[in-house]
Amino acid sequence: MAPRVSSAAPADLRRLVAAARAVRVNAHAPYSRYRVGAAVLTRGGNVYAGCNVENATYGATLCAERSAVAAMVAAGDRDPVACAVVTAGPKPGAPCGICRQVLAEFALDLKVLLVAEDARGRVVARSSARLASLLPRAFRLGLHEAALHRIRGSGSCAGGR
Ligand SMILES: [Zn+2]
Repeated sequence: MAPRVSSAAPADLRRLVAAARAVRVNAHAPYSRYRVGAAVLTRGGNVYAGCNVENATYGATLCAERSAVAAMVAAGDRDPVACAVVTAGPKPGAPCGICRQVLAEFALDLKVLLVAEDARGRVVARSSARLASLLPRAFRLGLHEAALHRIRGSGSCAGGR
């Protein structure tokens, strides 16, 4: 299946980046001190933000992107068209592999905006990419969408290729 290409209006993308920048200050990052803010924009124009939540076990740490996706799902939304990620500079950080796969669960392709801020919260660098280029050949269950929906509805866990 070819990736569905999503688009978003510039005003919505500005709103998306603003939400990711705003939530970054709430990051719980006492170990790495690497604060990340993320936000997803849905086709309906809703924005959901999340920040990284580190844990003393390290392994239980939640990335900002997954935190934003969880907020989207908790609100009953499902159709992201763009994701913004804001990190410390000088260069923007990109989503980790797990977050790329989590985003691909809801959209095989979406616009990813990467923004870097300095210590005063001023934007120092920007870049963008398509999720499909960041995560080529994302894992998908080898099933039609209807079958996938049935599996999700039954709550069972099926392996895939
Ligand atoms: Zn991540």
